[in-house]
Amino acid sequence: MSQRVTIIGGGVIGLATAYALVREGLSVDLVEARDSLASATSFANGGQLSYRYVAPLADAGVPWQALGWLLQGESPLRLRLRLDPAQWRWLVAFMMACRRSVNRRNTEVLLELALHSQATLERWREDDGLGNFAWRRNGKLVAFRSEHAFARGREHLLDPVSQQVLGATDIQALEPSLVGTPFIGGVYTKDEEVADCHRFCQQLAERLRASGRCRFLLGRPVTRLIRRNDEVTGLLLGHEQLDVEQLVLCAGHRSPGLALPGLKLPIYPLKGYSLTAPIASNHRAPEVSITDYERKIVYARLGEQLRVAAMVDIVGFDETVDARRYQSMLRLARNTLPEAADYGRAVEWAGMRPATPTGVPILGATRYRNLWLNLGHGALGFTLACGSGERLARLMC
Ligand SMILES: Cc1cc2nc3c(=O)[nH]c(=O)nc-3n(C[C@H](O)[C@H](O)[C@H](O)COP(=O)(O)OP(=O)(O)OC[C@H]3O[C@@H](n4cnc5c(N)ncnc54)[C@H](O)[C@@H]3O)c2cc1C
Repeated sequence: MSQRVTIIGGGVIGLATAYALVREGLSVDLVEARDSLASATSFANGGQLSYRYVAPLADAGVPWQALGWLLQGESPLRLRLRLDPAQWRWLVAFMMACRRSVNRRNTEVLLELALHSQATLERWREDDGLGNFAWRRNGKLVAFRSEHAFARGREHLLDPVSQQVLGATDIQALEPSLVGTPFIGGVYTKDEEVADCHRFCQQLAERLRASGRCRFLLGRPVTRLIRRNDEVTGLLLGHEQLDVEQLVLCAGHRSPGLALPGLKLPIYPLKGYSLTAPIASNHRAPEVSITDYERKIVYARLGEQLRVAAMVDIVGFDETVDARRYQSMLRLARNTLPEAADYGRAVEWAGMRPATPTGVPILGATRYRNLWLNLGHGALGFTLACGSGERLARLMC
């Protein structure tokens, strides 16, 4: 394998891939459309390293549940059908992936990759001293409001050895900020982690710069891949051409726009929202990460900030914050954990999850002999980044 690799995309996936390749002794050119790294979907995500909660969105019963949600005013899901064949194709493939057997198979694939990712991050933290990104192994509690949902949660433990079923009193003892909330119980997984994805990316970038083996080309959108027969020979950056030896595509939800003939990239953006609110000494912020199962909203303490994330909007490529959706999430957070943070000073954000219909990322070689893919990590990009980057680097080497 030639020693120089070009990566398109400076989100958490592109950066983790670059880091893994440099660790293997290769040199990297990372090309990013924006002026700064990790400023798209990897900027203010939920912060959950959710290694044992990887079941894809596509599951039996989800289409019916989704219909119910679509009829609700304040729903975790929103669908705006568009005159866009890519959206329709994605929705049909999503429905096909909702079969229970397909969901089970995909969950197994994701769980294996997630646990590999956890081990990889641990190695990078310990061997390379990677830190300063608000990482904590604080455990995760999936909390339930109804007996019906709680019963289902108990039935579907992915890792019964490390997961505990707890009643109302126990969850309040574990996490005192839940006293007075409507949760009747939950599933607690002690080995789950949280961290700030943007700060993690900055740490990776700093190490990559210091290695002397990584060159960042920022503010350089790739407009087209140039190919000859079964090989990519270069990238078009506006009017300029950049020659490539090996190429990895990590352009998140924009990746399909760079596909070559014969490459299927069934990725569609699932828009979501987050808020980041400061925590002062008088607040009662949760230490454990919390998922409000029925409302589909997650809470994570990242240092002195509370990160709340929610919503799946299938509405096309508009990346702006929809004020009504954001306000709906803010209202839910205020109602559920009113004293957790200073919501009056919350910072709003929207991002586009690069989702495949099955929830499984696209990782590996292609029919073009020097083109590799690492994309489509959907709602789990931060969780899966280190494992995906490391796995691809191993494959390439
Ligand atoms: C609300 C929300 C909450 C989330 N919470 C979690 C969570 O708690 N845990 C978790 O694991 N995951 C979470 N995710 C998912 C996670 O954030 C994503 O899966 C991950 O950030 C995707 O990373 P990426 O590198 O593939 O994409 P991005 O971060 O979007 O990076 C892709 C990069 O490619 C660049 N690019 C695109 N096209 C081009 C081009 N033509 N030329 C050059 N550069 C280009 C873009 O500018 C961008 O910087 C969440 C997502 C959302 C929206």
